[in-house]
Amino acid sequence: MLNEKVTKLLNNQVNKEFYSAYLYLYFSNYYVEQGLNGFANWYQIQAQEERDHAMLMMQYLQNNDETVTFEAIDKPSVELTGNLSPLKEGLKHEQYVTSLIHTIYAQAYEVKDFRTMQFLDWFVKEQGEEETNASDLVKKMELFGSDPKSLYMLDQEMGARVYSAPSLTL
Ligand code: MG
Repeated sequence: MLNEKVTKLLNNQVNKEFYSAYLYLYFSNYYVEQGLNGFANWYQIQAQEERDHAMLMMQYLQNNDETVTFEAIDKPSVELTGNLSPLKEGLKHEQYVTSLIHTIYAQAYEVKDFRTMQFLDWFVKEQGEEETNASDLVKKMELFGSDPKSLYMLDQEMGARVYSAPSLTL
């Protein structure tokens, strides 16, 4: 059994990861409407990754004989305009998720839950990568997004992303 507060935070994080998947599918749908199918593909794969994160958290709770509790998933409330705003919202969201992971880590640290700290190490690293990716996308769009030819090429690049399963196994 895990510490009660740690368990509650991990359960909450399951919901947040599913929300992330929902948010990124919302971005994907938005880009479909913009005619940018490459960007839509990139966010669809991102959504798959977020679902994987939720699944890993659920598995971790279950491996420790804890109950997985589901809450309603919020409706994405961000307003999207133009081609840049989803990327900026994506970066903001990843920074927020990093803060959530750090809060769980801090709680695990406080109660000397070394197992959960080790489990979360992967997520701490993953969040670093997510923030870098999101920030790179914002920079690329700011640099090249206003030129139609460059935007086309950027969309091709985003369309080339393929899904790969998470490197963490439990
Ligand atoms: Mg995630």
